[in-house]
Amino acid sequence: MAFDDLYQEIILDHYKRPRNSVDLSALPSEYAHENPTCGDSLKLVVESDDDGRIESVKFDGTGCAISMASASMMTDLLRGKTRSEAYDIAAQFTGVMRGERQVSELEEYGDLAALGGVAQFPLRIKCATLAWHAFERSAPLD
Ligand code: ZN
Repeated sequence: MAFDDLYQEIILDHYKRPRNSVDLSALPSEYAHENPTCGDSLKLVVESDDDGRIESVKFDGTGCAISMASASMMTDLLRGKTRSEAYDIAAQFTGVMRGERQVSELEEYGDLAALGGVAQFPLRIKCATLAWHAFERSAPLD
């Protein structure tokens, strides 16, 4: 894969030391979000305060480096955001993955920019967006 070395390093760092990764094996299997084309699977819990601001996003998953790194980056990024801010970021990220938005839009989101190159690999896009779709299903907008 033609990822830039620095970006590759960031992805591997999140893969090897995922942020906000917890044991959610007690959650029933219907809580698992799957990307069958690659075998990625993750469960996600979102905690919000009374105003709907996201206090934490935690996940438990198995899968390829891209899917797990994306989940790790997302859980870091969404903490402290309102639900609508989180949805805006999710739409921006999935839009970049689908080639509808400029990869440079991810630069303001720190480590997430490392995944911009995935947009060139159609088979890996579902890996990168799995956590984000899981978030949208776990924390629907009112
Ligand atoms: Zn994958």
